[in-house]
Amino acid sequence: MNFRENLDAVKEKIRRITEIEKVKLIAVSKTQPVEIIKEALLNGIEIIGENKVQEATEKVPLLKNLYKEFHFIGHLQSNKISKLMELKPDLIHSIDKFSTADKINKFMEKKNIYQDVLVQVNTSQEKSKYGISPQTTRQFISDLEPLKNLRIRGLMTIGAFTQDKKVIRKCFVLLRELFESLHSLNQDNLCLKYLSMGMTNDYEIALEEGANMLRIGTGIFGMRN
Ligand SMILES: *Cc1c(COP(=O)(O)O)cnc(C)c1O
Repeated sequence: MNFRENLDAVKEKIRRITEIEKVKLIAVSKTQPVEIIKEALLNGIEIIGENKVQEATEKVPLLKNLYKEFHFIGHLQSNKISKLMELKPDLIHSIDKFSTADKINKFMEKKNIYQDVLVQVNTSQEKSKYGISPQTTRQFISDLEPLKNLRIRGLMTIGAFTQDKKVIRKCFVLLRELFESLHSLNQDNLCLKYLSMGMTNDYEIALEEGANMLRIGTGIFGMRN
């Protein structure tokens, strides 16, 4: 595994575009076996990201004292929420339904703790993608105001699935502009900090457009099976 080289190359590219201290790098460890993730965590990775609750339930407890943060980045089904909560994710990137947010909030309320979340926005408007439409994101966030045990930390998007860099860039610009416009909302559970955008094939564009949280899988671990 030339994991070290991969990680160094990613970091070097980040440094060319922005101050690396300002960027949180999520190593997307989905489909990777525990042994490989362990090695990564002993060699410079601090944050891991998983996209399936079942897979996370099998792997994350075995990595408990090795990671600094565990992020859930995938679509969250309502019937998997309590299972996910048991894993104590440091951040959930994929809130795009009130009922899901409400359920997480109720869970946290009982324990009197907070859950950090991001709202996922479908900036490419591709039908296959999850996320709130850009036009209704502001209203959606306002609707979350009564959920006092959530802390909305920012926005997440997946760039358009295309080779056309202009089209990809538009997605990221849209997310950044939305993010900036939300600062005028005065809402107790709103504590905006993160723009989660950029994956292996588009993270440089994302960084140029203001991303401060990258989700990189193959660029760090190599190809998935
Ligand atoms: C798989 C995945 C990634 C990482 O994808 P790569 O192209 O391997 O970097 C990022 N975000 C989400 C939501 C994913 O599911």
